[in-house]
Amino acid sequence: RRAAFAQLKNVAPVTKDGHRVTVMVNAGLRDDVSALDLTGADGIGLFRTEFQFLVSATLPQREAQRRLYRDVLEAAGDRPVVFRTVDIGGDKALPYLNHDEDGEEENPAMGWRALRLALDRDGLMKAQARALIEAAAGRTLNVMFPMVSEPWEFDQARALFEAQHAWLAARGRKMPSEIRYGAMLEVPALAEVLDLLLPKLQFLSIGTNDLTQFLFAADRAHPKLALRYDWLSPAILRFLKRVSDQARAAGVPVAVCGEMGGRPLEALALIGLGIDRLSITPAAVGPIKAMLRGLDRGAVMAAMEEMLRHPEAPLRDVLTGWAEAQGV
Ligand code: PEP
Ligand code: MG
Repeated sequence: RRAAFAQLKNVAPVTKDGHRVTVMVNAGLRDDVSALDLTGADGIGLFRTEFQFLVSATLPQREAQRRLYRDVLEAAGDRPVVFRTVDIGGDKALPYLNHDEDGEEENPAMGWRALRLALDRDGLMKAQARALIEAAAGRTLNVMFPMVSEPWEFDQARALFEAQHAWLAARGRKMPSEIRYGAMLEVPALAEVLDLLLPKLQFLSIGTNDLTQFLFAADRAHPKLALRYDWLSPAILRFLKRVSDQARAAGVPVAVCGEMGGRPLEALALIGLGIDRLSITPAAVGPIKAMLRGLDRGAVMAAMEEMLRHPEAPLRDVLTGWAEAQGV
């Protein structure tokens, strides 16, 4: 089967009824970029920039950041790369950053992390913004902010990037041809004010790892909870449908970049919700392409609509039965 999946490298992820799905990979280190050629993915839908910070003994200097981003863009060639600004803090604490100035955090996942920390420690974010803008000279730069909870956080982060852009431009540096700004939706509260944020976004990416832990109030790393709540629960699927319908109506492309999209049955459900951009772990690209090529998108969208209206039996069972009956 591994060999069979590898052969799908040059085969496009098109459903049986002819819908082209965008399948990208998640990455975080320089070497991860080789996954693009190995899998034939459409790009990097989530580049976790905090990895460089986590593997480093000291704060990576702007020049080291710039070099990494440049290498990644060069290796990706024409394929898009979405750089997520640092998601540090919480359980990804850095020894060289003073996280504990107000004492230990009781709930680090819901604590001072990601964009919250980056906006407070804006020196960190300014250096990263400059490194990204310089690295993307002459190209498109896609920037995505993690853990956006309210639209003003996105505004502030974008303004910080624009100020760095203006600073570099005033010094005659070569600029990116375009900067596209996106947000991650992983804090449920953002869904309630999404109408305010969508007009400002070039793209939206749903982080289902954090989103599901916050929706169910269930620690994503807790072994006793790992099997308790299902990604295929009506609560999650209805939530995702509402968000993706709203984004699409506003003309904003929406992707899922959590682990959910890398599992065939879950990805089938996402296609059924109308989500057709996935960013997944590289090892999942082959299996997901194989699933997509056997799937009738129109049929799964109709089936999902019905299943979500009256979700009586566990949806995992219903979807498994449906997929078997369809020969997916
Ligand atoms: C997520 O939360 O779904 C996500 C993609 O980000 P991370 O797993 O890095 O928190
Ligand atoms: Mg996350």
